[in-house]
Amino acid sequence: MIEIDGTFGEGGGQILRTSLALAAITGQGVHITRIRGGRKKPGLMRQHLTCVKAAAEITGGVLTGAELNSQELAFTPGKIRSGAYRFAVGSAGSTLLIAQTVIPVLLQGDGVSHVVIEGGTHCEKAPLWEFFRDVYLAALRKMGAEVAAELESVGFYPAGGGRILLDIAPVKTWRPFVCMERGRLLESALTALGSGIDEKILEDEIRLCRKQLPGVEFRAKWLNADSPGPGNALFARLDSENITELFGVCGSFGVSRSQVSERVAGMVKKYLAVNAPVGRYLADQLLLPMALGAGGRFLTLPVSQHTTTNCEVIRRFLDVGIGIANNENGTFTIEVKK
Ligand code: ATP
Repeated sequence: MIEIDGTFGEGGGQILRTSLALAAITGQGVHITRIRGGRKKPGLMRQHLTCVKAAAEITGGVLTGAELNSQELAFTPGKIRSGAYRFAVGSAGSTLLIAQTVIPVLLQGDGVSHVVIEGGTHCEKAPLWEFFRDVYLAALRKMGAEVAAELESVGFYPAGGGRILLDIAPVKTWRPFVCMERGRLLESALTALGSGIDEKILEDEIRLCRKQLPGVEFRAKWLNADSPGPGNALFARLDSENITELFGVCGSFGVSRSQVSERVAGMVKKYLAVNAPVGRYLADQLLLPMALGAGGRFLTLPVSQHTTTNCEVIRRFLDVGIGIANNENGTFTIEVKK
């Protein structure tokens, strides 16, 4: 069994998710201790437990310690089985983080898989649905992976009730992911999404965000989401010649509309201040598919601890070279060599 200490580096759920996916793909057992040991409330939360059970179900694997709040887990995977699956978080935990665990696994299957995931679709500190569809899946497509995704209903914290559908086909031929230049900014769109909240809040978020980014000509719209509970998200999508990036945050109780717009504007400013195509969130999420696929290289912003930690986890399972070079101009080059 590969031993993983859940406290190292970032110390969060991503260590678990990457380990589960790589165990399932390589057929190697994994023993994870001190799960999410870097967090205030360590152990398996619902979202993480759903990932654990999904990896075991897809591979017919054996689990020890797969319980809520468990800080230790052993997973002995079987063989990947393509098919129809439904995974329900049972809370507003992120469906997209579960999708990012099962997609790499099912891309290595022997047939098309149909997956339904229920939970949150617009959650704090996780990819928003729109990021997942327009940025993450678009990058996978460049690597040769075909995943069709549909949003059936929106789920916000705390009510949840979101539902996404995925069709995942095995990859025929992996292509390297190479993205060293952003190219010209072609289009910028700002969207405020709300359920059960005053439309004035959505209009204000757009107005305030625009005010902080006078140099960007946003097409803007606000949308009412059909969701079982109240919620709000604001996101900016930037389509450049060579890549689409999206920066979004969720509004929540105690976070004002001006804080929401400031946070989105801040992320966009940081991205536009440096001439690198890949934002800091996409950077950590690209590593796993690139390491499984044909590698490649990309230029990004200063790397996050999520990125460096994910590199370490990947190196524990796969014989790949991952290099991170500081270009001394605010950009970093990440290269994944197979
Ligand atoms: P915890 O931090 O509670 O252990 P977790 O399992 O939810 O929980 P992390 O290990 O922090 O999560 O991983 C979060 C993932 O979500 C990372 O891959 C990160 O890139 C991604 N992410 C966070 N915020 C955003 C965002 N605004 N847009 C896109 N992706 C995001």
